[in-house]
Amino acid sequence: MTSWEEKVRRVVPYVAGEQPKDKNIIKLNTNECPYPPAAGVQEALRQLTEEYSALRLYPDMDATPLVEALARKYELDPDQIFVGVGSDDVLALCFLTFFTSGGKILFPTITYSFYDVWADLFHIPYEQKPLDAAMNLVPADYIPAGDSDIAGIIFPNPNAPTGVELPSDEVERIVAANPGCVVIVDEAYVDFGAKSALPLIKKYDNLLVVQTFSKSRAMAGARVGFAMGNPKLIKYLKDVKFSFNSYTMNLPSIRIGTAAVEDDAYFQEITAKIAATRERTKKALAELGFEFPDSMTNFIFARHPKFEGADLQKKLRERGIVVRHFSKPEIEQYLRITIGTDEQMDAVIAALNEIVAQQ
Ligand code: PMP
Repeated sequence: MTSWEEKVRRVVPYVAGEQPKDKNIIKLNTNECPYPPAAGVQEALRQLTEEYSALRLYPDMDATPLVEALARKYELDPDQIFVGVGSDDVLALCFLTFFTSGGKILFPTITYSFYDVWADLFHIPYEQKPLDAAMNLVPADYIPAGDSDIAGIIFPNPNAPTGVELPSDEVERIVAANPGCVVIVDEAYVDFGAKSALPLIKKYDNLLVVQTFSKSRAMAGARVGFAMGNPKLIKYLKDVKFSFNSYTMNLPSIRIGTAAVEDDAYFQEITAKIAATRERTKKALAELGFEFPDSMTNFIFARHPKFEGADLQKKLRERGIVVRHFSKPEIEQYLRITIGTDEQMDAVIAALNEIVAQQ
């Protein structure tokens, strides 16, 4: 008889950035927001403690108030929006829903390292396309040639962990050239000054734009993400979601997510502040001899010609600063440094100054 272990689905899981226990650490390794969520979020939580018996009931499986708030904010109809438990949940469901033809899906070599994990999990064949020498995505690689059949396309814009934005006319070129498959643009980092592909969803029914509350709305702990696209795409996504687990988003997240979307002024304020801190940090890093592609996100992907990435990461850690390092050969010299507050970035620059001077 065979062992049960031969029947197990074996996967190599995604490795998330560390969440250090020490509260004094300057934590710049998972692109969280250094500022608190909008004040309305705190008020919604307070109200929830008063109405805590509402937790007896299953939550609204359509997350209606949240979907409606997003529809108002982005000037869409509710049937153009799908919400999930973080954009990881939304993206995983997208892989399951749209990438089913058995052909190869395409995404870049240097990109969000969850894409290949989902592809492997769902047995979706894939091909990764290299970036150019300046770390730009190469649009021509995503345009079908002759009778080649692309099963699906996904890329973050701006890309992660590079921070580089693909101009929206190039995004449109890719979407327009692929009416035969769904193109997913993962806009986890779009709110820090990049241009969203959202206006294109009216023109292209194969485009799905995915965003998150984890970075620009300071709510990584609440797990809220969403997709925007043609109602037909959203309907297919919902059918799969409701065939898997209907009640994924809990009542508190629906309430506080709604409150966060409703405070647009605060959202504009903190994203502009982070973008300004990023620009200051770029200047200071360049003066220290760091090299980095131009980032439009809340992180900078930088290397120093005189240091190994892992060594720099260790030296920063010794000084109480945690940043992300990827041990992939093409990028192992780089560190991905999340943009924190001005004070936190001053501490990073001071530490790097000391490290570089000691070399
Ligand atoms: N896409 C990209 C490119 C990311 O970097 C992240 C954050 N790890 C996500 C999606 C997922 O974010 P969340 O699930 O917190 O919305």
